[in-house]
Amino acid sequence: MTTGSKRTRPKAAQASKSDMEDKDNTDNQRAMAAVVDKGSQGTSDRKVDVAIIGAGIQGASIAWWLMRLDPSLQVALIERDTGFSQASSQRSASSIRQQFSHPINIQLSQFGLQFLREAPSLLAVDGEAPAIGLTDPGYLYLAHPEGADSLRAQHALQRQHGAPIELLERDALANRFAWLRTGDLVLGTLGAGAEGWFDGPALHQAMLRAARAQGARLIRGEVVGFEMAGAGDASGKIAALQLADGTRLACGTAVNAAGAWARPLAKAAGIDLPVHARRRTVFVFSCPTTLADCPLVIDPSGFWFRPEGRQFIGGRTPDDDADNLPLEPNLAEFNEAFWTGLAHRVPAFEALRIENAWAGYYEMNLFDHNALLGAHPAVDNLLFATGFSGHGMQQAPAVGRGIAELIVHGAYRSLDLSVLSVARLAEGRRIIESNVIG
Ligand SMILES: Cc1cc2nc3c(=O)[nH]c(=O)nc-3n(C[C@H](O)[C@H](O)[C@H](O)COP(=O)(O)OP(=O)(O)OC[C@H]3O[C@@H](n4cnc5c(N)ncnc54)[C@H](O)[C@@H]3O)c2cc1C
Repeated sequence: MTTGSKRTRPKAAQASKSDMEDKDNTDNQRAMAAVVDKGSQGTSDRKVDVAIIGAGIQGASIAWWLMRLDPSLQVALIERDTGFSQASSQRSASSIRQQFSHPINIQLSQFGLQFLREAPSLLAVDGEAPAIGLTDPGYLYLAHPEGADSLRAQHALQRQHGAPIELLERDALANRFAWLRTGDLVLGTLGAGAEGWFDGPALHQAMLRAARAQGARLIRGEVVGFEMAGAGDASGKIAALQLADGTRLACGTAVNAAGAWARPLAKAAGIDLPVHARRRTVFVFSCPTTLADCPLVIDPSGFWFRPEGRQFIGGRTPDDDADNLPLEPNLAEFNEAFWTGLAHRVPAFEALRIENAWAGYYEMNLFDHNALLGAHPAVDNLLFATGFSGHGMQQAPAVGRGIAELIVHGAYRSLDLSVLSVARLAEGRRIIESNVIG
């Protein structure tokens, strides 16, 4: 292994940042002037129907779906950093799979894939169709003998739910992927044609642009508190958001889509949310040998890698997984064990070279590692869309639609997401998903 010197975020994320900042500087000032009043200065009490806190992929998707379902709604996205310098949506590996062990996660991604395929036309603005860069070589889950029964059982469940995943015994694996070392493996499952990756920052930008083109407003500001209606009322209801600059924004419904920062925001409403900011480093590396038809590979030892253009990206669960570590890539995570594991699985990786690395936060739901959605029992006009624990990018299209349905219709109309209700925290009801990566 040799190491290069570049340690910045990927080009796509950097380009997105500056594009959005330029545009937002003017648009946000206009939006602020149009929507937000200074409560402390006694100006008239302006109100939006829905205030979404956080304009990452989840906030943008919820806003887009809301405008689509009811164009008459006044929807505001409140975002403290319109350059999205730390947002997970700009730091994601942006991959999509159907190989989950819980039916709801399979269904969320099935809709995600359908949406991504149609995104260029769905998200076009003024005839300009965004390039999402979807490619679908699949995920390849690999099993040692001890993991084979579990992989077979998951495969059966995935097939039962319409996921076109192939089961490949060792010989079939070796025939299909000549670059893969298979001696210690018994089995693999592959979703070629139904799984893959895409340009996440481009999807984020496109959703935000399309939501705004339909009338949603983006407001630059940090939400620091909530003004409750009927103080002392046990049921609780939010009357307005309090922004760091003293601004007051009244709203009918508020949505916490604050990603890895959802927990401190929930605390401001008196809610303890088990969502923690956990840093994940993604390594970019090159290899002189081409790996034909390389999917996103999940090694039984826990690491993953996939092609990214002519290079590769990969990562693993860090040994030190404390909350809120600085958003710098931890190069020490590319340790001997990781490199040895990569070179063991793909002999050509003996010659790999690290080119780059970046880090982002998983909004990790330590209760059960699955999304926390919908209204909170303690504050019934505060909805949640967080806790995705590493699979929020692919789930954003279906989650946005679901949250918009809850707000507009009072119930899920398409895919029933109630199993992921945030109310399960109080009920002690865990959703078990075996295939959480990292
Ligand atoms: C390294 C990495 C790899 C990943 N790989 C994948 C993958 O392959 N596939 C997949 O599906 N998912 C993946 N994910 C997960 C996915 O990227 C996230 O689940 C998703 O981007 C979360 O989107 P979000 O909108 O909830 O959060 P974010 O994109 O973080 O947006 C939240 C926004 O809220 C704003 N905010 C926070 N607090 C406030 C406040 N008080 N007031 C105003 N604004 C506020 C923040 O500034 C931020 O812009 C990955 C994540 C990481 C970090």
